[in-house]
Amino acid sequence: MKREAICDYHIVDHTLMSTSAIEAFHHLTGESLYEVIKIIDGVPIFFEEHMARLKQSIHLSRVNVALSETEILSDIIRLIRANDCGQVNVKIVLTREMEKHRLLIYFIRTEHPGEEAYRKGIRTILFPGERETPNVKTIKDSFRDRVRTALREAFAYEALLLDDGGDITEGSRSNLFFLKGQHLLTPPGGRVLLGVTRQKVMAICRTSEITVVEKCINQTELHDLEGAFITGTTVDVLPVAAINDMTFDSARKPIIKKIIHEFATEVARYISARKQSQK
Ligand SMILES: *Cc1c(COP(=O)(O)O)cnc(C)c1O
Repeated sequence: MKREAICDYHIVDHTLMSTSAIEAFHHLTGESLYEVIKIIDGVPIFFEEHMARLKQSIHLSRVNVALSETEILSDIIRLIRANDCGQVNVKIVLTREMEKHRLLIYFIRTEHPGEEAYRKGIRTILFPGERETPNVKTIKDSFRDRVRTALREAFAYEALLLDDGGDITEGSRSNLFFLKGQHLLTPPGGRVLLGVTRQKVMAICRTSEITVVEKCINQTELHDLEGAFITGTTVDVLPVAAINDMTFDSARKPIIKKIIHEFATEVARYISARKQSQK
């Protein structure tokens, strides 16, 4: 396991440790459950939703650990104060070695795609692959390494996973939405990681009266689409300019622009509510 922790301190089982002591990171394995939360202005964005999903991952994996949300939040606040290191994401990992669980909390780089990606959209590729338990957010290094190699070779930003029947289910680390006419399509909840960003976009669509149909898109149906975007904690809502060699003008579609705008508003609203309650 490569050490991805940045900044001076991380927390192991609620104890502050120096990041130069890397011992804790040796035990990160495929069985580890995790969350990544973006921090803006000292606020962990949509903290409650991320905790609900971590608890769901724990439940679905039949792991017998009770997490305290309050304790995790105060750990994160403690790290923000101890680590003075700007725009970061926080990663929460529950590891297991010999029936003993450990909770690691540390900062990672954001790998933000850059402003041009939002103006023009990103390149994506189709990549055969399925995650075994779609609703569980789990670390899978070997799969991630294969995806990274394929992305580098294709100069692409994200890989869209294809199942055996040619259905496109999700991004390797993002959820997918497709624009068809005036409505959106997204693969059904049972087949994907239930992204916090996906959930927020669905709520935005409900209030904005944009219809979202939960249905998989087959690779043979791509030419019927007007656009696509991916969602995720690091990228927010990011237009797709190409899937393999098929191009889309997603970044200029009014519905997609509206969702990008509404999502940013939602994040800003969360930050100001949080700051209000921390006063
Ligand atoms: C984390 C993740 C997402 C995005 O979820 P968010 O909660 O929006 O960050 C999507 N797909 C996979 C496979 C993921 O691991």
